[in-house]
Amino acid sequence: MPGPRNIAIEVLKILNSKGYEAYLAGGCVRDQLLGRETNDYDIATNAPVETVCTIFKQKDWKVVATGIDHGTVTVVHKLGDTFEVTTYRKDLRTDGRRAEVSHDQVTIEEDASRRDFTINAMYQDKQGKVLDFFKGSEDIKSKLLRFVGDPIERIKEDYLRILRLFRFSSQLSFFITKEALEASKNNMKGLEVISTERITKEWSLLLNGHSYASALDSMEETGALKQLFPQIKWADIKLASLSRLQVRQNRDLAVMAAILLKTKESSADGFISALCLSKNHQEVLRLAVSLPDIESKTIQRPSDAMQILDRCEQVGGAEAYEQLFMPLWLFCAEHPQLATKIKYILEVEQKWGHLRRGKMPVDGSDLMEKAGIPEGPYVGECLQELRDLYRNQVWKHQKDGIKLAIDIAKEKKII
Ligand code: ATP
Ligand code: MG
Repeated sequence: MPGPRNIAIEVLKILNSKGYEAYLAGGCVRDQLLGRETNDYDIATNAPVETVCTIFKQKDWKVVATGIDHGTVTVVHKLGDTFEVTTYRKDLRTDGRRAEVSHDQVTIEEDASRRDFTINAMYQDKQGKVLDFFKGSEDIKSKLLRFVGDPIERIKEDYLRILRLFRFSSQLSFFITKEALEASKNNMKGLEVISTERITKEWSLLLNGHSYASALDSMEETGALKQLFPQIKWADIKLASLSRLQVRQNRDLAVMAAILLKTKESSADGFISALCLSKNHQEVLRLAVSLPDIESKTIQRPSDAMQILDRCEQVGGAEAYEQLFMPLWLFCAEHPQLATKIKYILEVEQKWGHLRRGKMPVDGSDLMEKAGIPEGPYVGECLQELRDLYRNQVWKHQKDGIKLAIDIAKEKKII
């Protein structure tokens, strides 16, 4: 079965056969040179957007008008792979985020010069030959993020580029040129025009990127963190300590939780509302900042620990304890009592996690039918007590569970 790259090359061939230029462009060329996996093949062409539509419709491809005004259509291969085909464009006017563009007689060099970084401004033809107008491949070798053209001008055209700069430095583990850092620092206010949705998207990609800790350092140095999240006292947070977060997925949530734990709890609301997070992710963060409260709770038996683990799983899913407890570890250095409790909770999960997640051999209908407990709130109450005893390994088999349930019910004068 042809992979997406081969199908993308088929798109180039179709456009070439009609006499038009067509190239793979931007991120997919960069990723190929880096040996990074990519599934997102963007195509640039000098064919007008209406012509692209006609050509692919004639070939029985599905064509979706995803951004006709910007010269973009999505062509869909019969196997389902989609490709954005964009006509070369140049900017006429910009307002700090969006550009008014022209497609009239635009050359590939002009198209390249409106792209953000040299490593994102390369093209590749159907034979694999790379067109590199701004020495992007040299910058790939030196692991350098450099703006195409003058960094100040390029940032003023679109302030989102400041965030893309930090995000790529995290994802690719690339350095940022001194000029780009300086220009970002002096134009930080411009981030005010960027929507919360875009900020959230770039921020999450950055935190999930491999070198998030050094990207955060650059953001701190240039004042980006303060600009985006003024409610956080960044000076109180040792950013280097955040690099020790060992989580396998949703690292963005874990880092945000760590930031909130290290700062005043009262700033959590402001921070959360500065972002556009799903309801569930907001809940995970709120739970994360409330977890230090367990320092004052009695956690002595497995069932005590399991109740907390249940809550974490209920809010954040099966792997949630990673995102919730790893950040808490970083916080524990100054809270030894809390550290002892967390250690106990994680030990319980490791040893008896199967017991917590497994099905107890007695359920509500057993309590009614076999222990004679009347239908109603007592069933839930007895079940909860029985569950705690089961988790503390007081009983194991159904007959012992039923016997215990009868004792509990008698003691409570339910039966
Ligand atoms: P990703 O791996 O995140 O998809 P990408 O480089 O493909 O990275 P996209 O946002 O998909 O990024 O954009 C595709 C290309 O369009 C970029 O490689 C770049 O050439 C150009 N581009 C995207 N956003 C901007 C921008 N804000 N300013 C200038 N060029 C941009
Ligand atoms: Mg892309």
